[in-house]
Amino acid sequence: MNASVAQAGHPNLRPIGPGVDTIAAEQAVQDLLIALGQDPLTDPGLVDTPRRVAAAYAEMLKPKPFRLTTFPSEGYDEMVVARDIPFNSLCMHHMLPFTGVAHVAYIPHERIVGLSKLARAVEMFARRLQIQEGLTTQVAGCLQDNLAPKGVGVVLEAEHMCMTLRGIQKPGTRTTTSALLGQMREDPRTRQEFLSLIHGS
Ligand SMILES: [Zn+2]
Repeated sequence: MNASVAQAGHPNLRPIGPGVDTIAAEQAVQDLLIALGQDPLTDPGLVDTPRRVAAAYAEMLKPKPFRLTTFPSEGYDEMVVARDIPFNSLCMHHMLPFTGVAHVAYIPHERIVGLSKLARAVEMFARRLQIQEGLTTQVAGCLQDNLAPKGVGVVLEAEHMCMTLRGIQKPGTRTTTSALLGQMREDPRTRQEFLSLIHGS
């Protein structure tokens, strides 16, 4: 791949969708509370709850746009790894949080990116209703599109409240997902290097 391909991505990452209608969200939370047998109209502890819940979801679903600025790699072609990037997201099946860490790596071709941008990319895609698999592949695809690197590796480890608070109720259960592209997928030694780097051995 050449430089024009590397620069042909979409460096301006912006939120998707129509955004949050806070008033409608507050009303909907009030309706939900009533449907759940609660009394948000007169219970002093619940009167302000619709506003707080709407604000909390608005914040969790509002990514901060940023520019994924890239730089010439100046010949650097070793793996770049950012380990243990904390993230919070919302499961699209239950609207309950899942939280964990992301490990993001790439092997530069002609462009590199500031390390903080790897964490920003994770946060950007985490702040929408997600499944963990989708979040993993979206972060990997974003790096692929913007850097055209020789390889990309993304591993997410997360605990899902919809598994720990309800259903099978197994606190501490962590789900691991991975997306490997290019050399990271095709070359077993490169993949092994990535896995040993993220596991700290
Ligand atoms: Zn869920």
